[in-house]
Formats: sequence, structure tokens, C-alpha cells
Amino acid sequence: MCGLFGISGHPEAARMAYFGLYSQQHRGQESAGIVTFDGSSMHAHADMGLVPDVFDEQVLSRLTGDKAIGHIRYSTAGSSALRNAQPLVVRVRGINIALAHNGNLTNAAELHRELEEQGSIFQTNSDSETFLHLIAHNLEGHTIEEAIKAACARVRGAYSLVVLVEGRIIALRDPHGFHPLALGRVDKSWVVASETCAFDLLEAEYVRDIDPGEMLIIDGDNLNSQKIPGAGEVPMRQCIFELVYFARPDSLIFGEEVYSCRKRMGIELAKESGSEAEIVIPFPDSGIYATIGYAQGTGIPYEHAFIRNHYVGRTFIQPTQGMRNFGVKVKLNPVRSVISGKHICVIDDSIVRGTTMRTRVGKLREHGAKIVDVRISCPPVRHPCYYGVDFSSPKELVAANHPEKDLPHVLNLDSLHYLSIEGLLRTVKHPDRYCLACFDGNYPVPVNTPCGHCEHCGGKA
Ligand code: 5GP
Ligand code: MG
Repeated sequence: MCGLFGISGHPEAARMAYFGLYSQQHRGQESAGIVTFDGSSMHAHADMGLVPDVFDEQVLSRLTGDKAIGHIRYSTAGSSALRNAQPLVVRVRGINIALAHNGNLTNAAELHRELEEQGSIFQTNSDSETFLHLIAHNLEGHTIEEAIKAACARVRGAYSLVVLVEGRIIALRDPHGFHPLALGRVDKSWVVASETCAFDLLEAEYVRDIDPGEMLIIDGDNLNSQKIPGAGEVPMRQCIFELVYFARPDSLIFGEEVYSCRKRMGIELAKESGSEAEIVIPFPDSGIYATIGYAQGTGIPYEHAFIRNHYVGRTFIQPTQGMRNFGVKVKLNPVRSVISGKHICVIDDSIVRGTTMRTRVGKLREHGAKIVDVRISCPPVRHPCYYGVDFSSPKELVAANHPEKDLPHVLNLDSLHYLSIEGLLRTVKHPDRYCLACFDGNYPVPVNTPCGHCEHCGGKA
């Protein structure tokens, strides 16, 4: 996952991009970057770290111009290094191009090989650079729009893109529409962002989503909507995990209010599996919204048994397993009086590696919890994601490595129930528009698995 931002025709473009990225910090904490265009030159700054650490007044004042794009990175493909920070900026045939990508290409390795054979020199090992080379290869005798479309015809997988080129901002979503991208309006400027929570902060009005397969060219005040190859030819496959976990609850994505959607997941979960517990608690913050729904659905009183330290980032960001355990502990601390002697039902949005569950439930038991039931507001994550979510190795997925009946024992729980796929789909308006590959192994875009066979793609690759 990553976060994207773009703004055109604003006197404070860099500062708007800063706040636009800041509000989307949950989408990536590894690196941040902004590129501006002042009518003749591009100005760029990117570094490892959080948005407020990467930018200060001095840096922002150097980023002049009324157009800006920005990116925050959560590494899924390519290593965690400054050279992979985005937006990527290149100059080809006298044209400056800056590009920011959210998603993951499934054929990047083949394209990388092919392009190198043709003489392309790669500066990074991120799949996003492949796009730039494909665009560059197709520029001769073509407009930039045509070159971008030609690049889209070659790549497979998930890509929401924001491109700054020749004074225009081009925003596009792959034909399946895996990841979100929305259009907004503030004063006399057009603005695009992965999530609408960025618009709220900037007091921009949400206009609409960029459609799957749509390429929107923002040229000054004018909008020109075109279709990329494959648009309308494949089903929409929006990432359901954006709704389950990733997006901010105050965003509107895929036409759904994330908050209400998560609450409905809790209500559905309550219908599918109740509990005799005295209290229901979330693992904060991500579990809170489903817990509200679950408490409402079951009538079990809602309590907070863990207090969150708000100054700690998301635990996955720590690169090693040891650091990850440490991260979970430092983030949440139990409230003994709420826990001691109680039969507790815990709600979380998902179990991925099982780290959060093991450590937190261990804490509940240490503090005297009598019985611990767990209810999860999404189905078991059994299959890796090749489209941009960071659970890439099946070996790491606890539900992929144990039969469901053994999981309570493996995770030290008294009972465990997951929301069914059907239950999850009852919480959205258009259940046929989602990618569920992490739950059902049904990959909408074929993947060449790293292991070279296709047990992880349901035999479809
Ligand atoms: P686990 O600890 O089982 O590996 O991961 C599950 C927990 O991490 C849940 O509490 C969930 O909210 C959160 N989570 C799920 N997916 C992701 C992800 O892709 N990135 C991050 N940072 N956290 C995740
Ligand atoms: Mg969580």
C-alpha cells in the first residue's frame, strides 16, 4: 500500500501536498516525497521517514510552483531504501516526468528483464520504475497520453498512478480498480488523493472517484477523461482489505463510508457468532469500529481493556519479527481492573501473522482474564496478496499453516470465529466488485508465484 496526492493550480501546492500526505500517513510510513512544477522546472524532495520528519519550512519553500504530486511509501515490492522513495523523477526526450504509484505489478520482473535487454538502465528495484521505462520507450512519435496508455497495455496487476508531466497532472486507476483514487475540488484547484480524508483536511470537496480503467488528465482547470487499454473489459476487483483494515475510517472509498462498513462487519459477525462474554473489547485502533457493531449486535457491554500509545507507528513497519513483537507491546497496555476475572470477547479486524493475537491475548491472561473468545471481522487470510498488501509469503500467514479447528490452540484462545466471506460481502453495496484473493485464493490477475508453481493462485496462473 501507498498513498498518493496531486494538486493543480494552487499557489500553495507543496504545502497542500504536505498536508494531503500527512492525513494519509497510515498508508505508508517508510518514505515520503513531493515533486512540484513551476511552469518551467520541477523541484523534488523525498526521504525516508514520516511526512513531518521529511519536510520542514525550508524544504517546502524550495518546492515552488502551483502543481504538485506526492507519495508516501509502504514497501511491498523492492527493498526499503531511499532510492525507492517516490515520486520517481526522470527526464526523457527533453520532457520531465514525475510518477507516483500505489499498487504492485505482477509482471514487473519479466518487463524489467525485457527492458534491460533493450538497453534501459534501472535506478531502483521498485516495480514502479518499470512504468517510467515503458513510457519512455513509447514516447517516440506519440503524445505522453499515448505513451502512458501503451505502458498500461504492457503492465499487469494493481496500479493507481499520479503523474506530473508538462504542466499536467494525470491520475489513473488500473482496469480492475484495485486501489482507491478520488478527485476533489478546493478553491479553483483540482486535487486527487488515495483517500478522501485528505480532502477533509484541505477543506476540499469530494467530487468523485477516478473510475477503474480511467485516465484523468488535469490541465489547468480542464478535465479530460480517457480510457486506458483494458478499461471496461475486465471486472472491477477493488481490494476488500482496504475496507477491512487499510483505509482510514473517516474516508469514503469505493463508494463506501469506511466507518459504517466496518461497523456493519461487526453487526454481521454478531449474527454469525455470538459469545457469552461479560464484555467485548477491541484491539485498538483497527478493531474499534467492528467492535461497536458487535457490541450493538450482541448487546454485550463495550469496554476498553487496552490503552494505546498514540506516538507509536503501525507495528508491521518494523522490519524484523523481533522488532514487531516489541512494537505490539510498546503500542498497547492492558487495564488490569477491566480484565481481571472476566470472560472477555475480543474483536479484531484481521489476523495475518498472528503476532498481535498471541501477544495481546497473552497479556489478557497474565492480567487474569478467565475466558478469551475472539471474533474476527474478516475471513481467514490464507493467501498472499500480489497486488499491494504486505502479506506476501504464505509461510507467514497463520491461517494458511494450520487448519481452522487448530487455530484457537495455536493462538491460545478459548474460541475463535471469523466473519464469513458471505457475511463480509453483505456489508458492501456492490459485492461483485471486490478482489477477495487473500481469503479465497481467486486471483483476478494471474501471478507468477516466486516459487514457480501455482498452488497460491488457486491453479489459475
Ligand atoms: P498480525 O499481528 O496477525 O500479523 O496482524 C493482524 C493485526 O495487524 C491486526 O490487528 C490488523 O489490524 C493489523 N494489520 C492487518 N494487516 C495489516 C497490514 O497490512 N499492515 C499493518 N501495518 N497492519 C496490518
Ligand atoms: Mg490492528
